[in-house]
Amino acid sequence: RTVYVNGSYVAQEEAKISVFDRGFLFADGVYEVTAVLGGKLVDFAPHMQRLRRSLSELALPSPAGDEEILSIHRELTERNRLVEGLIYLQVTRGAAERDFAYPPEDTKPSLVLFTQAKTLRETPASKTGIAVATVPDLRWKRCDIKTVQLLYPSMAKMAAKAKGADDAWMVDEDGFVTEGTSNNAYIVTGQGKLVTRHLSHDILHGITRAAVIQLAEAEGIDVEIRPFSVEEARQAREAFVTSASGFVMPVVSIDGETIGTGTPGTFSRRLRAVYIAEAEKSAI
Ligand code: PMP
Repeated sequence: RTVYVNGSYVAQEEAKISVFDRGFLFADGVYEVTAVLGGKLVDFAPHMQRLRRSLSELALPSPAGDEEILSIHRELTERNRLVEGLIYLQVTRGAAERDFAYPPEDTKPSLVLFTQAKTLRETPASKTGIAVATVPDLRWKRCDIKTVQLLYPSMAKMAAKAKGADDAWMVDEDGFVTEGTSNNAYIVTGQGKLVTRHLSHDILHGITRAAVIQLAEAEGIDVEIRPFSVEEARQAREAFVTSASGFVMPVVSIDGETIGTGTPGTFSRRLRAVYIAEAEKSAI
């Protein structure tokens, strides 16, 4: 596999980053993950917009313009003959003498991209749905910034797996679900309303979330943007999560208790189909 590192396309075994890179020492960096369907990029423009916002919130210098970043995505897709899968992009503050203070402004940020070939559309999990387990949300208070500081979500996912679930739903101090470890969370109420938490510093502003809310409204589904509790989720008709890699993924149990019929529900299946159709159509 060919990867991109700071201006060069190299075999993954040849790729090098300094041990002094602040991404390695301080998790001082941000990332994006873009889906590829039929060799084309899904939702590329909003991913770039969010990258710009993450960079600016952390006063990270921009490593390249949008046009150049797009051409790197294209080049990697071609070189690796990627038809379906993901492109991971990471920007870190670069290599500097270890110090909590940011390095001088002329320090070059590091830019790394790599591809992951992966079936996204026809996955077993999308047919059966996934099980989630709740864990307290112990992350920092700026979850809206897409940083590479992912240790707590990893711990949460391992805790969920230890309980026999596939993923964790993180819960705030008031008992309301914030989001999944790497996805946004939704329920469908008995009245057929789609409920998902409002945007704030508590969750990542998902690109798939924005697209799915818009598609749901276009489908005539009532969308309520508000927090929901674990208790409300247990009694929901349906639940699902969204992300660039999972699209719309049905959730069929929470803490071992079945949600609805225990199989992917009609809202989840319909929104998944509509989202994939739109993603295929608008990919560039
Ligand atoms: N929340 C978190 C914590 C995430 O890590 C992700 C995916 N990186 C998402 C939500 C979903 O965001 P998107 O739809 O942009 O992939």
